[in-house]
Amino acid sequence: MSLSFTHSYASLPPILHRSLALEPVAAPRTVIANLALAKALNLPANWQETLLNFGGKQGLAMAYAGHQFGGFNAQLGDGRAALLAEIGSGGESFDVHLKGSGATPFSRNGDGKATLSAMLREYIVSEAFAGLGIPTTRSLAVVATGEPVYRERAEQGAVLFRLAKSHVRVGTFQYLAVRKDIEALKSLADYEMARNFGKAPEGVHKYLWLLEQVISRQASLIAQWMSVGFIHGVMNTDNMQLAGETIDFGPCAFMDVFHPQKVFSSIDHGGRYAWDKQPVMALWNLTRLAEAMLPLLDEDRAKAIAMAETELEKFLPQFEREFEQRFLAKLGIFERHESDADFVAATLQHMADTQSDFTNFFLALNPDATNENSPWHKTWKARLADQPQTAAEATMLMARSNPLLIARNHRVAEALKAAEVGDLAPLERLVAVLKHPFDQALRGSDLTTPPNEQEEVRQTFCGT
Ligand code: AMP
Ligand code: MG
Repeated sequence: MSLSFTHSYASLPPILHRSLALEPVAAPRTVIANLALAKALNLPANWQETLLNFGGKQGLAMAYAGHQFGGFNAQLGDGRAALLAEIGSGGESFDVHLKGSGATPFSRNGDGKATLSAMLREYIVSEAFAGLGIPTTRSLAVVATGEPVYRERAEQGAVLFRLAKSHVRVGTFQYLAVRKDIEALKSLADYEMARNFGKAPEGVHKYLWLLEQVISRQASLIAQWMSVGFIHGVMNTDNMQLAGETIDFGPCAFMDVFHPQKVFSSIDHGGRYAWDKQPVMALWNLTRLAEAMLPLLDEDRAKAIAMAETELEKFLPQFEREFEQRFLAKLGIFERHESDADFVAATLQHMADTQSDFTNFFLALNPDATNENSPWHKTWKARLADQPQTAAEATMLMARSNPLLIARNHRVAEALKAAEVGDLAPLERLVAVLKHPFDQALRGSDLTTPPNEQEEVRQTFCGT
């Protein structure tokens, strides 16, 4: 794929972006580079030096708005990030985004910088997602800047090279809707469709179809997050991307001990984005998107609302179907029966009652074992006996549905701590194994062990 330092986004109306000159950093040093990703994308051999010499290059900061924890902010935007380049052409293309690259016209009171540990955290978790096969933005490299960043203490600064199918968010649509710029709204919708969705079927309202596709991708994405015990933490509308990739890994985490109402974010006091709230919050965000898109749907507002509602109503049924299907597969069950919604709910209740480790609960299940006699196990065994597939087939389905490895909080924390003092071994080891989380050879590895009481991380911080 070709690497270009022009931005297709710059062709959109100027209200959506500002260009800026990227400042060079004092002493850039690559901390981690994703050679496998570079290879998969067929990047030119000199990609590292080309990208890393970003100083002086023309960047582009995107404008967006957003509901943050329910409150609307009409003026956000890339405050500490900029589009640096685009990869590919025509068919598939990716933004190369530089996160932590310094102040932009949208920085408000922020410094535009990012800490090494926050950028490495995003690198680890996004690549863990890629390993799990869940749609995500990717991380190409983290480069320490050699400059301090001041948070609660002085920390090392860094930039992340992030790849995304595009950085258009729900908040990007809200930005135009609140300014009543309908022409720009159309251009934005057309841009996003051309880039990530293709043409609407003949005779179908193209913007309504776009809304339908976005809703469908989110329903699927949230089901996938929840099937690996993931809590995004900051599902604000500026952190929900239209193309359906997981984006903006801030205070996110994979659960160890299962609890449906678990949150990790130090700023999520009300539990707004708890594990089990994620579908409802995604639908809330999508409703904000639909509102922003109303002028594109029909001139008659009442009609536009009715059209949007029809699409929004599809979200929960699709989510529930995919959620159940994923959990049934984790339990070795191939085809959903009418009564399985209750069985999945009973399974989650059982996991919560027994304070099970989310990941290891499924790994410990054995369709052949005869020594497990809890009522839940009996129900499960009876359900397995009630399908045509053999226990061996169920075991195989479970093996491809249950990762052995997630990016456990305490392991991430350990890797970040070591990296801060220059020891990259734990980071490299973690990233390497997270590429193949379904590898049965990981059984028994220390990386699959839940944290003990001292190791447990109860909150994660934005650590911007
Ligand atoms: P986030 O919490 O990363 O989703 O960011 C929310 C908003 O705050 C976005 O508009 C960011 O660009 C902005 N922001 C976060 N950290 C900084 C920073 N250090 N400097 C400037 N803007 C920031
Ligand atoms: Mg964000």
